Amino acid sequence: MESIVAEKRIIMWYRNDLRVHDHEPLMKAIRSGATVIPVYCFEPRQFGTTPYGFPKTGAFRAQFLLESVADLRQNLRSLGSDLLIRQGKAEEMIPAIAKALAVESVYYYHEVTSEETQVEDNLREALKAIETSIQAFWGMTLYHPDDLPFAIGEIPELFTNFRKGVEKSATVNEMFPTPERLAELPDIDRGEIPTLEELGLEPPQRDPRGMIPYQGGETAGKARLAEYFWKQDALKAYKETRNGMLGVDYSSKFSAWLALGCLSPRYIYSQVQDYESQRVRNDSTYWLIFELLWRDFFRFICAKHGNQIFYQSGLLGVSIPWKDDVDRFELWRTGNTGFPLIDANMQEIATTGFMSNRGRQNVASFLTKNLGINWQWGAEWFESILIDYDVCSNWGNWNYNAGVGNDARGFRFFNIIKQSKDYDPDGSYVKHWLPALKDVPAAKVHEPWKLLPVEQQRFQVRIGVDYPRPIVDLFKSAQANESIYNAAVERSTPKRAKSRR
Ligand SMILES: Cc1cc2nc3c(=O)[nH]c(=O)nc-3n(C[C@H](O)[C@H](O)[C@H](O)COP(=O)(O)OP(=O)(O)OC[C@H]3O[C@@H](n4cnc5c(N)ncnc54)[C@H](O)[C@@H]3O)c2cc1C
Repeated sequence: MESIVAEKRIIMWYRNDLRVHDHEPLMKAIRSGATVIPVYCFEPRQFGTTPYGFPKTGAFRAQFLLESVADLRQNLRSLGSDLLIRQGKAEEMIPAIAKALAVESVYYYHEVTSEETQVEDNLREALKAIETSIQAFWGMTLYHPDDLPFAIGEIPELFTNFRKGVEKSATVNEMFPTPERLAELPDIDRGEIPTLEELGLEPPQRDPRGMIPYQGGETAGKARLAEYFWKQDALKAYKETRNGMLGVDYSSKFSAWLALGCLSPRYIYSQVQDYESQRVRNDSTYWLIFELLWRDFFRFICAKHGNQIFYQSGLLGVSIPWKDDVDRFELWRTGNTGFPLIDANMQEIATTGFMSNRGRQNVASFLTKNLGINWQWGAEWFESILIDYDVCSNWGNWNYNAGVGNDARGFRFFNIIKQSKDYDPDGSYVKHWLPALKDVPAAKVHEPWKLLPVEQQRFQVRIGVDYPRPIVDLFKSAQANESIYNAAVERSTPKRAKSRR
């Protein structure tokens, strides 16, 4: 008599790991001999609002996410499988599938921040009730925690110490191979990818001034890498160009694909190694990996400190009396401060969902050191609008730029005018985003408030009408906020303000 052997099934719960290459849980599930059931849940919690009231996932990132999920589904289909799509909480959707298909286990990549780990805990509980096991993997970083020279609880607070320790004694693991074939899925509703409208969002308007042709998914992410490394040969000059603001190739633009896991950091690392052996190995090739270490650092710091990164008092634990000035915050958010570098960058992010690293540092410094406004509002606006939002990189960088990070070395602020002249010497960046200033010569465009009436007439811009007057005096405002900051640090027996998440 023929014996019926029950098919072993494992759910691969996809989250911010939307790829088939270098995917440990996917590979381990296949190697176990199980039929893999890939699942993605569109979480209603990710489409609510932030405490300040912004959409938690704005339209740029939502669009990128939809494209990434569609690409993953396509890639899984070409391997013989498919992606089950569900709209609802993971802790409800996944146990339902597990039950319907008699699944043995659920595999997934572990996250480190509160909302994400809460979902994991909920799911674990729900699966326990139906006697289905669950297994977490680590995989968002270049380095695996097992290979670090320190335990998570002992991750150095200073980036430099982290980097030196890692560079001295850790190695990057080999990538997991991309599967060649997957087992066909059993009979179950595949589910449809929702539209933006169904997620409660309007499609983002594409502005021709936005130069980066973002398209979600690992196919497009790999294509971007091929373009930047191999076709444009731009990696060899990365260190010199990375502080740019205008154009496509001054930096890699990998961040959005990294944030959703469409590109694995180890894939980038291995491509850098190929580039070094086939083209050139120099400071620039090293520097791209150096920047990926920042990304790792923030994730490990979040794993170490938990929710503290979201507290107003930050990792440093200092209670600064930030101003809740809604009007000025709106001027900052909409790019109407009267400082061209700030306004151009804020217009760019609002129009495209992206801003350069140079821009992000300047606008964060201006909000916190010149306007003295609650940095959490800025972090929330970025969370909403950024196409490349990554919870650890965003909140970690905001901690640093607001002076509440764990390496804060006193009150340090960016001289916006100097930055503007240094990084946009011919004014082409600010003119690109601020058409009112397009006829102002480069030598005058960074300080338009100094234009005489006759110059305003000549350059066809009326300050206070076509372009705003500065909302603060750059140096007086920084001085005043420095006194507030120093007094707060001095009296600080670290009190923790409420977390935003
Ligand atoms: C206030 C503020 C908020 C930020 N929010 C985010 C965010 O939500 N998501 C995000 O990915 N990056 C964030 N960054 C870091 C950085 O600005 C972006 O990673 C970078 O601008 C993305 O462009 P790129 O991919 O061309 O970078 P490249 O210069 O080409 O760098 C390569 C990669 O290195 C990593 N990287 C570079 N700089 C940093 C950094 N300072 N911190 C962490 N990783 C870094 C990114 O993964 C990036 O894709 C933030 C920086 C600041 C100052």
